[in-house]
Amino acid sequence: MKITDIKVEKYSWPRVRPVTNGKHTYTHAGMSILKIETDENTTGIGLGIGMGWGIQDNGLIDKFKQELIGEDPLDIEFLWNKMWVPKLVGRRGLSTQVISSIDIGLWDLKGKIAGLPLYKMLGGFSNRTPAYIAGGYYSEDKGLKELGDEMLEYVSWGVKAVKMKVGALSLHEDALRVKTVREAIGPDIKLMLDANCAYKYYDAIRFANLVEKYEPYWFEEPVMPDDYEGFRKIAEKTTIPIATGENEYTRYGFRDIIERKAVPILNPDPYIMGGITEFMKVVALSQAYDLDISPHGNQEINIHLTAAISNALMLEYYPQQHDRMWDKKYKHTLLLNDDGTVSPPDCPGHGFEPNYEELAPYRIL
Ligand SMILES: [Mg+2]
Repeated sequence: MKITDIKVEKYSWPRVRPVTNGKHTYTHAGMSILKIETDENTTGIGLGIGMGWGIQDNGLIDKFKQELIGEDPLDIEFLWNKMWVPKLVGRRGLSTQVISSIDIGLWDLKGKIAGLPLYKMLGGFSNRTPAYIAGGYYSEDKGLKELGDEMLEYVSWGVKAVKMKVGALSLHEDALRVKTVREAIGPDIKLMLDANCAYKYYDAIRFANLVEKYEPYWFEEPVMPDDYEGFRKIAEKTTIPIATGENEYTRYGFRDIIERKAVPILNPDPYIMGGITEFMKVVALSQAYDLDISPHGNQEINIHLTAAISNALMLEYYPQQHDRMWDKKYKHTLLLNDDGTVSPPDCPGHGFEPNYEELAPYRIL
C-alpha cells in the first residue's frame, strides 16, 4: 500500500455565543480535516485543532506531502521520524501541529485496514472513560447564580466532575465564583479549576490558598506553559494538584515537566503535541512516574486514547452549549452514558467521519 495524496479542508463557524476564559475570548469554532489517500481506496482522516491555523499553511502541507507520497502508510513510526527533523519551522509549534494531524490520519487508516477501533489497536484498557464537563466560562450575563445553575445542570447529566474557568477577575472575585460552584454541586462532585495561564506564580499561590477550602480536584495551567519553575513553586505551597500540558509539545516537553516533580496530572493534546504516536510515548513516560493522564479537548480522538491506557484519569467533554455544529460535524456524535462515562465508537479507525454536507456552508479552505 502506498500514500498517493494528502488533502486539507478547513471549516469555521460562529459560536452560539463567544466563550471567554481567564485569558482569551473565542468567537468561532471550527475544524480542519486532513485526508490521507492511498492506492487501495482507503482514506485516513486526520483531524486538526479547531482553529486550524496549523494546517492552513499550504507550504508546510506541501513539504510533508513530498516526504509521504509513495510511502507505506502503515509504517507510522518511520513516517513520524521522517517528518520530525530539526530543521522544521517552529519545531514545537506549527510543524508539530501539522505532523499531529497527519499522524492521526495515519492511525485512522491503520485502524480501518486492520478492522479495529483505535482504542483496541493502541492498548485496549476499557470501553468506558469517566468524563468531566468543561464549562464555567465567563460571560457578561452570567452572574454567580447562573454559574452555579450551569454547573449543577452538568451534574444532572450524570457526570461526577466539572471544570470551571478562573483567572479573568480579581483573586477574591474568582474565589467567590469557586465557592458558589462548590456550594451548588455539593461535596462529592470533583471540581477542577482552569486558569489558562492567567497568573504569575505568586498570584497563583495566593489564589490556591484562597480556594483550597473548596477542595478543587486540580488547578490547571496556573502559569505560562514554559514556567516549569512556577509549577514547582506553586506545588510547594498548596495541596491542590497541578495539571498542565495542553500547550506542551512532544515527549521532550513532557519530560521537562515531569522532571520538576510538581505536576501529577498531564493534559497532552494529541492534535498539537505530535499526534497519537507521540501521545503514547508521553503515556509511557507518565506511567514510569505513576502520573495521571487527562488529555486536553478534542474528545473524538481522546476517547480512544483514554480507553487505550491504564492511567487515564478523565475525559474532557465539551457539551453542546458551546458549538452549533456539535452533533452535526461528524456522522457519529460522542454522547455521555447514563453513568457519566463515555464510550469509544466500536468501528474501524477513530470512527468520526466528517459530515461533509452539514459542514459545506462553513468551508473556508
Ligand atoms: Mg485548559
